[in-house]
Amino acid sequence: MSTESKALLKSFDNDGLPVFGLNRLRKRYRRLFADMINSGELRLEKVTACPCGNARFVNISNKDRFGLPFHTKICAGCGLICTDPRLSEGSMERYYREVYYPLVLGIPPGAAAGNIVSETQGEVIFSLTAPFVDMAKGPLRVLEIGCAGGENLKRLSEMMGQRGAACILYGTEYEEYNAVLAGEKGVNLIRGGIEEACTQGMKFDIVILSHVLEHIPDLNAFLARVRESLDEQGVLFVEVPGVNNTEMLSGGWYMNYVDYTVHSHVYNFNLASLRHILELNGFELAIGDEFVRAVFRVSGKESAAPDCSSNCESVLHYLENVLPENNHRPGSIYGLLRRRLKRAYYGKLRFHADY
Ligand SMILES: [Zn+2]
Repeated sequence: MSTESKALLKSFDNDGLPVFGLNRLRKRYRRLFADMINSGELRLEKVTACPCGNARFVNISNKDRFGLPFHTKICAGCGLICTDPRLSEGSMERYYREVYYPLVLGIPPGAAAGNIVSETQGEVIFSLTAPFVDMAKGPLRVLEIGCAGGENLKRLSEMMGQRGAACILYGTEYEEYNAVLAGEKGVNLIRGGIEEACTQGMKFDIVILSHVLEHIPDLNAFLARVRESLDEQGVLFVEVPGVNNTEMLSGGWYMNYVDYTVHSHVYNFNLASLRHILELNGFELAIGDEFVRAVFRVSGKESAAPDCSSNCESVLHYLENVLPENNHRPGSIYGLLRRRLKRAYYGKLRFHADY
């Protein structure tokens, strides 16, 4: 068991409460998830080093949005926020098959997820990648890792087509129902993910990672394969929920920082920490913002990435001072009473398993 480190703000402590009210489905799966961890059916692992190689961290928060004892801590070397503990790689498949959809997305098991990011995501990907793609090259080979029902690929291909560039679409998708939908849209399904694409020796002009990187524990191994699968002139589109996206963390999408954190997000990026880890793995930034949406190209240089150590301070300053009031828990008697009632309803869940 890990010892409880001090949280950055009092409201980031673990009071055992979910940040928002859970429906019955989510409440049931929250307990089931903790039971699976405590019985050893799902295994956790301690995070001892950041993918950048640094092992010095500053603790930020002691629970995730479901009131589960997953901490977040920030790497002093690059400012990447890591979730600790995290599910071990061996437990991922079962977790995503049995727990993720009902608990995190609130979708009953067996139902279609649809487009969970945005209906216009394909247009966003087009507008950001098009300036860096050689349209005259002939058919563009496009790969999306985790392509869901193929919506992004289909829309991107339509828009590329309007510019006279035909696309050959490839996607990976573990969820069977979505894989069928993608196939119907003309997407060539690659079974087994990025590893399989690499072993087949395919090279792509565009690779799309839309809300993927924050779920991948071994970032260096994964990015090495992505780089291998990209043509030397190819572009990589990455979208992740950015911690420095003030709009998102101030009531736009999330009520506060803890609401933003979730155990399935192994990492929380801002543009600087994303750029740093990509640079360490042989990419260079072409364009990007704090949303985070970014386009990378293959870098010719093998030299070390530029220093990113000031990013840790700047993210901590942002969390402590820039985010608005709703990150600070009100100390009223009413608030105290409410929390006590909620705790009796949900129950404070602990992990007893060793990791
Ligand atoms: Zn780091």
